[in-house]
Amino acid sequence: MTASTLDNDQLTEEAERLARTRYPCPPFIVRFPSSNIKEQKVSEELCKHLKDNKQLQLELIGYRRSTLKYAANECDILLFVKDNLSFSFLYNDTNGPTTLLRSTFTRLKSPSIPPQLSVIMKSVGLSINIEDFTTELRSMFSSLENVVRMKNRFQKEITLVKLEFNCRVERENLLSDGKLRACSISFPVVEYLAQARVLICGKCCSIGHFRRQCRQNCETCRTCRQAVSYIKQHLPLCSKQPHCIHCKQNHASDDMRCSEVKNLRANLTRRLLNSNNGLISASSSPGYLYDQSNFPRLPYA
Ligand SMILES: [Zn+2]
Ligand SMILES: [Zn+2]
Ligand SMILES: [Zn+2]
Repeated sequence: MTASTLDNDQLTEEAERLARTRYPCPPFIVRFPSSNIKEQKVSEELCKHLKDNKQLQLELIGYRRSTLKYAANECDILLFVKDNLSFSFLYNDTNGPTTLLRSTFTRLKSPSIPPQLSVIMKSVGLSINIEDFTTELRSMFSSLENVVRMKNRFQKEITLVKLEFNCRVERENLLSDGKLRACSISFPVVEYLAQARVLICGKCCSIGHFRRQCRQNCETCRTCRQAVSYIKQHLPLCSKQPHCIHCKQNHASDDMRCSEVKNLRANLTRRLLNSNNGLISASSSPGYLYDQSNFPRLPYA
């Protein structure tokens, strides 16, 4: 274990802003059978539909056309919602119109439910059958979408269970109760918090700034950490021996398993949680206590 060389200098404003801006809900994707669709018009008409027909104030913070390849006569529009409330409006299929801009469209698979609409149940013993448990929970909450037994970094099941809701009301009530009775046992319930994203420069592999802000002239190979003038020329010649610039261990410099990156991520998350206007705990639990065990495991840690 190497000593941490990271300090608060790397918790830059950019790093914090990225962690914030990447936090909101995943986008909804709608596919039109025509390439001649104006994304702005789609968003306007959708908001108007929900307002006029459902009296819902849908707030979108962005929309764009997908850059992925699609058939010539199709286009996908990505809609980014502002918050949990707008997410739940769109998540609920019955709220949406069936046509927009006089064109039928298909809603692609619903996005995954964001942490802001999830909670964690603690101390759910491994002997509890998760299917029976799910059935019981579903009978209690109409907006419960998924029940997921969490795993540790060795992919072993643990006693935390995540509940994902499609609407904030039941989730918020549950959080304010702070506990949930199921299988004749009372379980503590806490917010589910995703870890902040760490910003790693695509040019020099340092932490805390974007490529366009990079002050290094050459590029650093993320695998072998050699500094080179032209990364494209280097790649065929690269030793492919991973050597991390942060912790000097044998993994790539942008590997999220890196102990230094993990430290920074924990600090950044803690800072976001402590800031007054953090998106994470905007809704409830003013007395939130940071607890590492509430965090999901890193993707491949
Ligand atoms: Zn850089
Ligand atoms: Zn290299
Ligand atoms: Zn490392």
